Amino acid sequence: MPQKPVRVRFAPSPTGPLHMGGVRTALYNYLFAKKNNGTFIIRVEDTDQTRFVPEAQDYIMDAMNWCGIMPTEGPGLGGDFGPYVQSERKEMYRPYAEQLVNDDKAYYAFDTAEELEKMREQAKQMGMPNWQYNSVTRSSLKNSLTLPQTEVERLLAEGTQYVIRMKMPRNKDIRFHDLIRGWVVVNTNNLDDKVLFKSDGMPTYHLANIVDDYLMQISHVIRGEEWLPSAPLHVMLYEAFGWDAPEFAHLPLLLRPDGNGKLSKRDGDRLGFPVFPTDWTTAEGELYSGYREKGYFKGAFINMLALLGWNPGTTQEIFNLDELVEAFSLERVSKAGAKFDPDKTKWFQQQYLRAHSDDELATLLAKHTDKSYSHETLKSVCHLMKERATFVQDMLVDGAYLFERPASYDKETIKKKWKTETFELVQDWLEEVKSIATFDATTIEVTFKAYLEKKQVGIGAVLLPFRLSVTGVGAGPGMFDIAAFLGKDEVVTRIEIGLEAIQAIVNEA
Ligand code: GLU
Repeated sequence: MPQKPVRVRFAPSPTGPLHMGGVRTALYNYLFAKKNNGTFIIRVEDTDQTRFVPEAQDYIMDAMNWCGIMPTEGPGLGGDFGPYVQSERKEMYRPYAEQLVNDDKAYYAFDTAEELEKMREQAKQMGMPNWQYNSVTRSSLKNSLTLPQTEVERLLAEGTQYVIRMKMPRNKDIRFHDLIRGWVVVNTNNLDDKVLFKSDGMPTYHLANIVDDYLMQISHVIRGEEWLPSAPLHVMLYEAFGWDAPEFAHLPLLLRPDGNGKLSKRDGDRLGFPVFPTDWTTAEGELYSGYREKGYFKGAFINMLALLGWNPGTTQEIFNLDELVEAFSLERVSKAGAKFDPDKTKWFQQQYLRAHSDDELATLLAKHTDKSYSHETLKSVCHLMKERATFVQDMLVDGAYLFERPASYDKETIKKKWKTETFELVQDWLEEVKSIATFDATTIEVTFKAYLEKKQVGIGAVLLPFRLSVTGVGAGPGMFDIAAFLGKDEVVTRIEIGLEAIQAIVNEA
């Protein structure tokens, strides 16, 4: 049998920004499509008008664009299966719901919200807190299965509000295969008669999702584990329509760093890491931070996300997008929840930063300062600082002394490490510095070593004091490189100023 072309969709509901977990779902869909020469589609599932957030769709598209995982069919992207926003497909769904009623797979239910609430309340008082509209209770409720045909027709003709519910068969095992979880079996006695079509004339998620997956010829449904409980109903719907169901793959949850529960949108800023791909400000003006604005490279973000729930089966950790496409398979996605690791995320960012050339980093760094440093200067700064930085902008802060003389000196380190004889040693070293003819890192180092030899002191006795007086801080990139970068005159002046400032600190102690 010829294989069906691979068509996968990411189907977000525009109820807010796209959480990291949603980006991972989109990413896996993208990778799977590319790997199998398939098509990646975005469909906006906005049937729940009460939770609709107008800016969400733009946010989602922008975030996917930043990540470099744009679909090729979707709103504003074209494709032969549109429209790709469910509210624009509104008229399409009712006939499908009615078809199910005609085929005795679904029914009209006229119960009002108040009546249902009353039922729930009564059940609760009788010790049944989880009352459901299901294959048992429906026989005593107000629907087209219990009311005479003429009454149903009268109610419909009068325009009485109704919903269409799925007629779940009693005691039937629903079996389906999940590419990640294997065989899943659920008995229909555990399922209720879900609403398929609402009184506001809109389909529910379930109906619209199945109708659209069918009409858009979706071959594989790759989505979060939270949809697994809905899958049996979806399988029943495909069966009821007489359609072949797509393959299913339910992705593992993203868990909090401590493994306790699902990663939620509030966890991020509370625990100090972003949960969203890009910044999101709520209508109330509350800001949720995003990876892009924090300064993460999209490659690092995507690389980290790809490995949250999938593994390549090798020890390789760094993958660009093309390499991910090449290596990806659903078989290597795990069932178990994936713990998000903020430190590892930073590690990925560091690796990506280091992989950039000094030239590229200098161009990026220029965007973080309004001072007009030359490209060459910034290149040297990047060369010096990139092994120690996580984000591009860190280099301006941590390497501030490369641009300006220190405004302060690290008192803690001075108190711990600066001895009385240190002044004289640095003073003498200053005289040596003045005499260096070619002020490059190698010559400075050779001169420094000879000086230590002459003085019969260890490297620690002068190197840290030299660093403190020039940079004001106790750690940083190679001191001879820093000195060469600053130039002889500047180093001489800095040692002079530094010695005075440090003397004042020592006196004060
Ligand atoms: N609209 C659903 C969501 O918000 C889509 C679930 C699915 O992919 O079937 O995640």
